Amino acid sequence: MNIKGKKISIIGAVKSGIAAALLAKKLNAIPFVSDSSNEEKLIAAKEIFEKEKIEYEFGIHSNKVFDCDFIITSPGVPSDSEVLTKAKEKEIKIFSEIEFASWFCKATIISITGTNGKTTTTALMNHTLNNCGFKSVAAGNIGNPFSDFVLELNENDFFVLETSSFQLDYIENFKPHFSVILNITPDHLDRYENDFSKYVASKMKIMKNQNEDDFFIYNADDLNTISTMKNSKVQKLGFSIKKEIPVGSYLKNGDLNFAWFGKVSKVASANDLFIKGEHNIANALPVLAISKLLNIPNQKIRESFSSFKGVEHRIEFVREIDGVEYYNDSKATNVDSVIVALKSFTKPIYLILGGKDKGNNYDEIKNLVKEHVVKIYAIGSSAQKVYDYFHSITETEIKESLEACVLTARNEAKPDSVVLLSPACASFDMFNNYEHRGKVFKEAVNNLL
Ligand code: ADP
Repeated sequence: MNIKGKKISIIGAVKSGIAAALLAKKLNAIPFVSDSSNEEKLIAAKEIFEKEKIEYEFGIHSNKVFDCDFIITSPGVPSDSEVLTKAKEKEIKIFSEIEFASWFCKATIISITGTNGKTTTTALMNHTLNNCGFKSVAAGNIGNPFSDFVLELNENDFFVLETSSFQLDYIENFKPHFSVILNITPDHLDRYENDFSKYVASKMKIMKNQNEDDFFIYNADDLNTISTMKNSKVQKLGFSIKKEIPVGSYLKNGDLNFAWFGKVSKVASANDLFIKGEHNIANALPVLAISKLLNIPNQKIRESFSSFKGVEHRIEFVREIDGVEYYNDSKATNVDSVIVALKSFTKPIYLILGGKDKGNNYDEIKNLVKEHVVKIYAIGSSAQKVYDYFHSITETEIKESLEACVLTARNEAKPDSVVLLSPACASFDMFNNYEHRGKVFKEAVNNLL
């Protein structure tokens, strides 16, 4: 693909927009970046554009945006925004940054999407490949824009791309050799006209350009995926934590098996995985299937599963003190994530819950709390709501800070139990973001010693 001299308008001057502009410039195209946010929020972008002599405008999308050969849009820009609506009226082609970068990609692409588990699965796949001697880079939604790295890898290398539905909305020729859909449940519906089928259709685009030489790996336990899979050409493999399947990977009696048209081999055991919980077995199964398709030896797969320590802030093991294990699950900003976390432990749990509430309904975790949780420490702007709901179910105490929760838990938690930060809420009432909250928690735990 030769883009020399092409005028490319890029909407959004955050990570992927900056990376796309730099790639376009490197390939002798003429990028123009437009972002409606004010300059104060885009200082880093401004510095880069001035240094690289890339034209830009902040605080506005002027008509200059439409004077181009095509547009690259960032995942944060809604499809019904004025700028994209106008571009469509003018019949200007709009692409996502992963589509654009893929035009220049020589390496094998493994693209992973799903409502939940994308980052963990992407990181585990990338870890497995690197651990087995391949050169592989995790990119996309995981925080490394594809455009930043695409020219660095060659034919024998791999990109493992965490792929969001917003990026899939604007693909045209994007064609992964391996694609994975982990699960599809209602999310981001505000971006899809409150129409779940439109969100599903967006995820399904991941397989639309795949052919006989490619592989599509899907969750055989997920009806939303099974009922909407199209593309009869691509080779399909399922994965399941509930049942045996003829082609793909599945959990049975604690074993992780690979089946290839009737031929079944035990590859690993669920216990080989360091990361906790059944949901993480579901995340590991597609990695196992792809590893087998790449002829990675079972022993290497097992080694990779046990040496992968998980992703920060997702049921992340912090440390053990006097028989009590501390886990940071700050990414759990909704009730669904807390369900997954509570199910991941058999030991009694001291749970830190609360923060900026997004309209949580705790009925869904009532029974799990009854079963697993010895005590709740309630924090943040929703502490009172947490107390009111749970105090009749399990012991509940309101604490003024995260540090205070950790200190009290240190005194109260009995050996062979777990102290878990899994707040079910956003963090903005007390912290900059969930990463900040997780770091404060870990610091408090480490300060206990
Ligand atoms: P994503 O990148 O899709 O947001 P992550 O890997 O960052 O996913 O995990 C975020 C949270 O989603 C986890 O802390 C856990 O609560 C939940 N989760 C992860 N994997 C799954 C899964 N396979 N099914 C359901 N929930 C999951």
